This record gives sequence, C-alpha cells and structure tokens, in this order.
Amino acid sequence: MATIGFIGIGNMGTGMAHNLVKAGHEVTVFDLDTEKAKGIEGAQVAASSGEAVKGAEVVLSMLPAGPVVASVYRETIFANATPGTLLIDCSTIDVATARILAAEAQGHGLTMLDAPVSGGVAGADAGTLAFMVGGSADGFTRAEPILNVMGTKVVHCGDAGAGQGTKICNNMMLAIQMISVAEGFALAEKLGLDPQKLFDVSSAASGQCWSLTTYCPMPGVGPTTSADNGYAPGFAAGLMHKDLGLAMEAAEASGADVAFGRAAFDAYDAMVEAGEAGVDFSGIIRGKRGVSYQP
Ligand code: NAD
Repeated sequence: MATIGFIGIGNMGTGMAHNLVKAGHEVTVFDLDTEKAKGIEGAQVAASSGEAVKGAEVVLSMLPAGPVVASVYRETIFANATPGTLLIDCSTIDVATARILAAEAQGHGLTMLDAPVSGGVAGADAGTLAFMVGGSADGFTRAEPILNVMGTKVVHCGDAGAGQGTKICNNMMLAIQMISVAEGFALAEKLGLDPQKLFDVSSAASGQCWSLTTYCPMPGVGPTTSADNGYAPGFAAGLMHKDLGLAMEAAEASGADVAFGRAAFDAYDAMVEAGEAGVDFSGIIRGKRGVSYQP
C-alpha cells in the first residue's frame, strides 16, 4: 500500500480519494475548501498542499485548470516532494503546460505524468474512470496499480502531454457528435417525424454513436439520460467549452484543420454566454430545436 498525497477534493477528487482510502492506501488530502477535505473519511487532512505531499510516495492532483495546476506544482509540490516521488496530475489542462511541468519535475528528480480522465462524477464515485496517461514507461508502470483502483481502463498514450492530447481529441469528437445528433433530431422534428422512429433506425444504422445510443439529447427517447432530467449535469456545458478551448489552442499550435471542432466550440461558447454553463452539454439541442435554454 502506498502513502498518497491528494490535492483537489472537488466533484471528481472526492470519489477518487474515497476509493484510494477504501483500497487501503494511506491518503493525506488537501483542498482550499477545508470542508471538502474533511469529507474523506479515513484520510488525514493537511493544512497545505506542501504538507500533503511531504513524505508521500505518490502525489495525485484533481484541480480546475492549467494555471492552478502550474502554480500548485511550482509553488508547493516541487519544493516539498521527496526526490523519486511519482506525481500524477489528473486534471484536464493544456498539452503545453503538461509537457513543461513534466520537464520541470524531472529537474527536481521527480517523475510526473499527465493522466486526465473520462467518466464523470459517476465514474469517479464508482471507480470506473478511464485514464489517458502521458509520460515515461517507467512512471506508467508505477502509476498503473494506483490508477486501477480508481478506474477500469488505464491506457499509456505516449510521452508527456499525450494523455491531455488524447483527452481533448476525444472530447472534440464527442462535442461534434452530440451536435450532429441534436441537429438530426431538430431536423426530424421540423419534418414532422416521430423521434422514437429516428432513434430506432439510427441507433442500428450508420448514424449510430455514443451521443445517440447512450446519451441521447432528445427527451423521452432512448435510454434515460440528462435530457429526461431537465438537462441536469452529467457533464456540464462549461466543462465541454473548456475542453474545446484547449482543443482549439492545440489545433492552432499544431496547424490542424478542425473546422467542425471550431463550429462546436462556437456553439458551446454561445451556450455559456447564454448563462448555461451549468446545464448538461446535451442541452445544446434546445437551441437547435428553438426551445429556450431555460428549463
Ligand atoms: P471542482 O471544481 O469540483 O474541483 C476542483 C477542486 O480543486 C475544488 O474543490 C477546489 O476547491 C480545489 N482547488 C482549487 N484550487 C486549489 C488549490 N490551489 N489548492 C488546492 N485545492 C484547490 O472540479 P471537478 O469537477 O472535480 O474537476 C476537476 C478536474 O477534472 C477539471 O480539470 C475537470 O476539467 C476535470 N474533469 C471533470 C469531469 C466532471 O464531470 N466533473 C470529468 C472529467 C474531467
């Protein structure tokens, strides 16, 4: 069993830290919000992130965004972690920052991996996350048993930044597919078609995709989803907007043609501008159907 410092006990970090404690690891947690940190039964609560990582064999972080991750690592973790410690950042951040931090960690005698996740809060609570890991093969081998406690799929995607790169490519595909399904149902509605018939055909035909069969944005059709619950998140439009912004940055830096990804970014930008950042990302269909974003 490992001694683990865990920083960032938010929506995702809570379930992940719980699962590590349940598996018998010795976990010390820190969050700026002390009440959240105190919610992890069986974990020690540290007074700072520096204290949480002192003496830890493994450090995990689940923080909101790149600038926060960079400042926490540079200001506290690098200075307080024992050389040889394995650092695993599970936050979704930009590829460039992930690569720079991994190089800086190496300069401190530390191994750092980027390991963003897919699966949402339900996956974090149930221990069924998918981890996309970037970094050295040796670091991955050390991380695998820890990540397996919190997830059911752990993939080594390549060198530093490859986990973040994989995550934003996946989420850009997801956003485009969700909008395509939303537009299909919006067009069907205008044509006076029965949405259930469209679902029955497309879910077994070439329009089939996860956004249709598992996360259908049309209420009353297919499996029970966020659409049947007033578009409560799930995966909030604001988080999809953030991930698409990271994809657009990466596309600009690499010169990739992501015209449909750009259109998806613009669509989620409009949703966020309309004050709907907290609505599930499948709620994008309401704009397409001409139904107000407001429930
Ligand atoms: P969250 O806002 O609920 O949690 C982040 C936590 O970090 C908060 O509790 C906050 O108090 C804490 N924090 C912020 N700055 C800190 C600091 N300097 N030191 C210590 N703690 C600090 O966010 P979340 O939903 O748990 O998401 C975390 C990350 O996971 C994000 O990068 C997000 O994009 C990614 N993610 C989220 C989901 C999801 O469905 N929520 C799914 C996949 C990936």
